[in-house]
Amino acid sequence: MKLAARIAHMTGNGKDGWAILGRARDMIAVGEAVTMLTIGEPDVKTDPAVLSAMMAAAVAGNTGYTDIAGQRALRAEIAARVSARTGVATSPAQIVVTPGGQAALFAAHMALLGAGQTGLFVAPHYPTYPGTIRAGGGVALAVPARPEHGFQPEAHALDAAAAASDARTLLINSPNNPTGVIYSRDTMEGIAEVCERRDLWLISDEVYDTQVWEGTHISPRTLPGMAKRTIVIGSLSKSHAMTGSRIGWVVAPEEVAHAVHALAVNTTYGVPGFIQDAGLFALREGQDLETRIAAPFRRRRDVAVRALAGSQAVRLTPPAGAMYVMADIRATGLSGADFAERLLADERIAVMPGESFGASAAGHLRIALTLDDEALKKALLRLRSYAEALVR
Ligand code: PMP
Repeated sequence: MKLAARIAHMTGNGKDGWAILGRARDMIAVGEAVTMLTIGEPDVKTDPAVLSAMMAAAVAGNTGYTDIAGQRALRAEIAARVSARTGVATSPAQIVVTPGGQAALFAAHMALLGAGQTGLFVAPHYPTYPGTIRAGGGVALAVPARPEHGFQPEAHALDAAAAASDARTLLINSPNNPTGVIYSRDTMEGIAEVCERRDLWLISDEVYDTQVWEGTHISPRTLPGMAKRTIVIGSLSKSHAMTGSRIGWVVAPEEVAHAVHALAVNTTYGVPGFIQDAGLFALREGQDLETRIAAPFRRRRDVAVRALAGSQAVRLTPPAGAMYVMADIRATGLSGADFAERLLADERIAVMPGESFGASAAGHLRIALTLDDEALKKALLRLRSYAEALVR
């Protein structure tokens, strides 16, 4: 029996970069105490008021099939939020609610990238990106953002890759997982120019747009001429600690929204109504709830910066946003993967090797800020001593 070629194409070489997470989980399963700084799961849980709204909606009967593009009131709320935050007039017809940002990323590529066509993405990258591009038959091509350039993608590199591959789409992510970088206005304007010149669709993953610690997040959809070629990916996973509820959306030109809706009719058949009601409740709580959920990550970002300050072995560029720090351990002479392996074996601390997110993050570690402040500080001080001993 043979699997479809599409699936083999999607999984690529079979390595997904998460091996260390599996190993750490195996250790925990046999009773070892491992400090987990690997996965981007907020340790903050969904707010009880949001859960009550979910329960009330279900008990009131919103348990049947729902409006597949998203309930009217929720789409209106998302459209109003996007309009207010970006200044770009956005209508409910431009919104489709999806089971999380991941489904939105898949839908956008399915709608815009033909089989055999190239979809660009910036590396270091969220690990699902290449598989998501390939899932619909596209060819995934990474464009490295260099640490020497603060992990900001460079227009000339994007332009060269687009020209050489005749790419149709470009996927970007700011605030960025894994680097914590927020793209500058220059970077965004450079990206917009390349998209215009090479006639690319821009898929802008903005699921961390409520986690901004320094500077401002610019949605590229706000740049002149860009709304017609930009699809924004949104999610309540990180902004409202609702990872398990699986609720996100696309903001897109109307004809693209129609295509994403048509795909949903034939795949997910929508997001459960009671989850959508909870999402609507969460959004209507406004800035207060978002700020409350972002607060621990903002605090821990400062904890991490202080714990690693001045170290020559573990160098940190303080992250401007998102819930991770990217630490440069090249001074130890080890790869990120070797360092992470040894740190797990010797110190029982699990971090992600930079290499899991693309070659341009080689010699780095991604540390998730998903532990309480004291435990995080302790783990980072141990990591620091471990790295410094390797340098001596
Ligand atoms: N994009 C990025 C950059 C992410 O980090 C994640 C989740 N970690 C997602 C998309 C997908 O999130 P979800 O499907 O839970 O909305």
